[in-house]
Amino acid sequence: MPEWPEMEHYRQELNKRIQNRTISGITVNRPKSLNVPEEEFRAAVLGAVVERVDRRAKQLVFVLSGERYLLLHLMLGGMMVLGTEADKPDRTTQIELHFGETALYFIGLRLGYLHLYGKQGLEAELASLGPEPFDADLTAARFADMLKTGKGNLKTCLTDQHWLAGIGNCYSDEICFASGLLPSRRPAALDEHEAARLYTSMRSVLTEALRAGGYMEMPLYDGDERTGGFNELCRVYDRGDEPCVRCGNPIVFQTLSSRKCFFCGNCQT
Ligand SMILES: [Zn+2]
Repeated sequence: MPEWPEMEHYRQELNKRIQNRTISGITVNRPKSLNVPEEEFRAAVLGAVVERVDRRAKQLVFVLSGERYLLLHLMLGGMMVLGTEADKPDRTTQIELHFGETALYFIGLRLGYLHLYGKQGLEAELASLGPEPFDADLTAARFADMLKTGKGNLKTCLTDQHWLAGIGNCYSDEICFASGLLPSRRPAALDEHEAARLYTSMRSVLTEALRAGGYMEMPLYDGDERTGGFNELCRVYDRGDEPCVRCGNPIVFQTLSSRKCFFCGNCQT
């Protein structure tokens, strides 16, 4: 499932390409991906201008003219392609937003959705999310305080969207590896140096992953060479049994609190 770097990458790319563009056509092949009847969606969205694309946690918010908002969650298997009819991949699309000759194609939107909200509805929908990793007031000191009351283990804390927004299975493992801490550690038991290392690792891993274009495999548009660059750079995620890049020991794959978890049992403590 795409996480902070993938969705932030999409946000930046989409703002470069569809900001201030008018939605000139809509195709709905899967009405279940919407939260309102198709006709209501069409009436609200057709002719609206995309003022900008925001992101909150793992979701994108298409801010439309007239205080209407489209909340996109790709969940597992969801993808986007932006391009002309010729660029459209040979896959079923669930929804298409057209901008003249170009369209944003939503693919694999089965668990994911594109929901329409007004201002209050959107705020209510996002209200329970935790802080963003790069919130200005999420200082190292505040992060350390959060860890003191964190429940479960580092894996469950880092992936709990109410505790911290935007991180999932891949980056929780990458962040723990970068900090040299086992994902099974109790958050409250970290000493101040370990808490500081986890904070620094969180920001550096996410920054590096965003710069590399995240791990989504399908290019967003024709000629896109950035999307998916982080696939090559993952140190532990999906690398079970491969040698650790730091110490050479095989990477361990385990289920931890019913989540896929990859780590080095030797150099993470
Ligand atoms: Zn190692």
